[in-house]
Amino acid sequence: MTNGMKALEKSKAEVGLWMVNAAVPAIGPDDVLIRVKKTGICGTDIHIWQWDEWAARTIPVPMITGHEFAGEIVELGKNVTDLKIGQRVSGEGHLIGKTSRQSRAGKFHLDPATRGIGVNEQGAFAEFLRLPAFNVVLLPDAIDDEIGAILDPLGNAVHTALSFDLVGEDVLITGAGPTGIMAAAVVRHVGARHVVITDVNPDRLALAAEVADVVPVNVATQDLKEVMAGLKMKEGFDVGLEMSGNQRAMDQMVESLVMGGRIALLGIPPGKSPVDWSRIVFKAITIKGVYGREIFETWYKMIAMLENGLDVRRVITHRFKVDEFRDGFGAMLSGKSGKVVLDWT
Ligand code: ZN
Repeated sequence: MTNGMKALEKSKAEVGLWMVNAAVPAIGPDDVLIRVKKTGICGTDIHIWQWDEWAARTIPVPMITGHEFAGEIVELGKNVTDLKIGQRVSGEGHLIGKTSRQSRAGKFHLDPATRGIGVNEQGAFAEFLRLPAFNVVLLPDAIDDEIGAILDPLGNAVHTALSFDLVGEDVLITGAGPTGIMAAAVVRHVGARHVVITDVNPDRLALAAEVADVVPVNVATQDLKEVMAGLKMKEGFDVGLEMSGNQRAMDQMVESLVMGGRIALLGIPPGKSPVDWSRIVFKAITIKGVYGREIFETWYKMIAMLENGLDVRRVITHRFKVDEFRDGFGAMLSGKSGKVVLDWT
């Protein structure tokens, strides 16, 4: 493996990514080397492609991007005794510290020193990825490489959805991007009653209805109150999952919730956004911010649900060979795609 590897790199501080020949990463004693088979393109990668303000502030150049992947272990660090060469894997892309209060309490996903692959550390858009053995997640036979490549965003969806008890509840999801759609599938899988998903993008709402048994509502043309009346909902949604970062969606969610309703927030507003706090106080609403995946409880639950009938495959709308990565990013930038998967084999 001395001949280098293909990698999709942010080589210059401008729009785009470049296919380069990079050195195969050297692994440390506690790491594994993974041959990457499939990768998913994330909204984060689009920010990096477009080189917006966040990306310019956050990403050092050059940087191999990408954090959604599945592959196979091809090399083990000398301290790694519980994994084997040839195992099919995905993995947690948040590299955590071990010294913070939360980390030492076992709440690894709350470690403030977390570094992201493809953001702060060399990423997965490459033929080979170095990953700490701790971060590796084994893939059972029931999960193929393309689903393995979207476990990171599915994990965001699962973590958000499972924030609150959903059995028999009426759930509103605002934002029908791929993660919102996967959250809808999870909410349905675990036994909610009514699941309504809102957006203003008709393509995404159509995809949502294809992937999950949900009621899609285009809030640009439909009145959510009428939809709720049609479902014979009297008091409002019990749980809200905010996946859009859109202030009007958040306002509508607060208005549509029952007294004592619960909201999990995954969507990220572009900046400070006005919130009607008194409304939230008087409705006695609980709000939880969600970051990443619980390490590794979200992974455990997600894999268990996939083995038990949770089906999100149709959220993958585009598949490209990695040499066609420009088409893949084009599909994402069109705003009409679900998940886009790149094939590195
Ligand atoms: Zn992602």
